[in-house]
Amino acid sequence: MEQKVQQRDPAEERAVLDAIEVWVEKEVRPIAKKFDLADEYPHDLVEQMKELGLFGATISPEYGGLGLSAWTYAQIVIKVASVWMAPSGIFNSHLIMASAIERSGTEAQKCKYLPLMASGAFRGSLGLTESNAGTDLQAIRTVAKRDGDHYVVNGSKTWITNSMYGDGTLLLVKTDPHANPRHKGMSMLIAEKTEGFKVVDKIKKFAYRSIDTCELLFEDYRVPAENLLGGEEGHGFQQTAGGLELGRINVAARGAGIAEGSLKMGLRYAQERETFGKPIWQHQAIQFKLADMVTQVEASKRLIENAALKYDAGERCDLESSMAKYFASEAGLFCSQEAMRIFGGYSHAVDYEIERYYRDSMLMCIGEGANEVLKTVIAKQLVDRHRI
Ligand SMILES: Cc1cc2nc3c(=O)[nH]c(=O)nc-3n(C[C@H](O)[C@H](O)[C@H](O)COP(=O)(O)OP(=O)(O)OC[C@H]3O[C@@H](n4cnc5c(N)ncnc54)[C@H](O)[C@@H]3O)c2cc1C
Repeated sequence: MEQKVQQRDPAEERAVLDAIEVWVEKEVRPIAKKFDLADEYPHDLVEQMKELGLFGATISPEYGGLGLSAWTYAQIVIKVASVWMAPSGIFNSHLIMASAIERSGTEAQKCKYLPLMASGAFRGSLGLTESNAGTDLQAIRTVAKRDGDHYVVNGSKTWITNSMYGDGTLLLVKTDPHANPRHKGMSMLIAEKTEGFKVVDKIKKFAYRSIDTCELLFEDYRVPAENLLGGEEGHGFQQTAGGLELGRINVAARGAGIAEGSLKMGLRYAQERETFGKPIWQHQAIQFKLADMVTQVEASKRLIENAALKYDAGERCDLESSMAKYFASEAGLFCSQEAMRIFGGYSHAVDYEIERYYRDSMLMCIGEGANEVLKTVIAKQLVDRHRI
C-alpha cells in the first residue's frame, strides 16, 4: 500500500498545538491525579477531545478529519503525555484503527466509518492481543467462519484499550486457522458492538489507569461480510504491520512526553529543595541526572521528528520509527526514574505526582513491539538497507 505524501501547513500546525496546550493546562492537568488514583474514566475529557477534533486528527479532511501530519500529531501526543499519558490512549488506538481503514479499507468502509470516527461518534480500538498471543500475533486463536453474508466469530481478546467505552474494534481473526504460513489465514474485521461481542471485564492495572483496558469474549458473534477490511481474506497480518510505523511514532511520542514531563518536575524540585545549605541541583550528582535527562528528552524528540518527517514525505521509515520508539520509551522510563531519585522520599507521596510518570513509563517499552523484540527488528532493518 502506497503511503501518501502529507502536506504541512506551519500556521495551522501552530494553531492546533496552541489549542492543545491551552486544553492540557486547563482541563487535563487539574484532574490527572484525582482520576488516576481513583482509576476513574475521564468522560468529560472525551467530550472535549471531540470538540478539539482529536478523534479525527490524522483522518483525511475528505472524510471529515483534520488531516494532520504525523509530525504535528506527534507534537500533540508529546504535549498530552508530558502532563498525563493515559488520555493519549483514548485517541491513539482509535486513530490506528482509523488509519488502517483509510489505508486498507474499501471505499464503502471508508465512507461509512471514517466520518463517524472523525467526529468521535464511533470510537474505535485495536483488537489484536489474546491470552496466548501478544508478540507472536500469528498464534491467535479467534476464528471467523464465513456463513452466507456474515462471519461468525468465536474466541477472545485481552488487553484491549478503549473497548469498554468505545463503540467497536478492529478485530484480528483467523479466517483460515490451518493456513501455512500462518499469516495467510489472518484477516481484520471492523467489529461493532452488537450481540455476541462481550466486554468481560476491565483489567485492574497499576499504571495507565483510568483508561478502559478489557478482556473481550466473542460467542457466535455475527459480523457482516462487508466489514472484512479491504474486502479480501488473508491480509490481516500485513494490514496490522502496515500501521506499525505510525503506531511506533505514537508510542515514541508518549515516551518522550513522559520523559519531558519528568524532566520538568525534576528540574523544578531540584531548584526548590535544599540540603546542606544549597539547592540540590548544585550537587554534582543531581546535575549529572539533569544532564542525562535533558539529553535523552532532546534525542528522543529528534528521533521522533526524523521518523515523522519521513512518514509525512511518504518515505519508508520502518527503521526510523522503530529507533524512535525504542529510544523514547526507554527515555521515558529512565527520566521518570531519575526524577523519582531527585524527589528522594517525596517521590513516594502521590501528592507530588511524579510516581504516576514512573508507573506509566513502563508500558511504552512493551506496546507496539516490546523493546526486546524491537532491537532485533532494528538490526534486521539496518542489515536489509546496507547489504554487502
Ligand atoms: C496497558 C496495556 C494496554 C494494551 N492495549 C492493547 C490494545 O489496545 N490492543 C491490543 O491488541 N493489545 C494491547 N495490549 C497488549 C500488548 O500489545 C501486548 O502486551 C504486547 O504485544 C506484548 O505481548 P505479551 O504481553 O503477550 O508478551 P509476550 O509476547 O509474551 O512477551 C513476553 C516477554 O518476552 C519477550 N519476547 C517475546 N518474543 C520475543 C522474541 N522473539 N525475541 C525476544 N524477546 C521476546 C518480550 O519482549 C517480553 O519481554 C496492551 C497491553 C497493556 C499492558
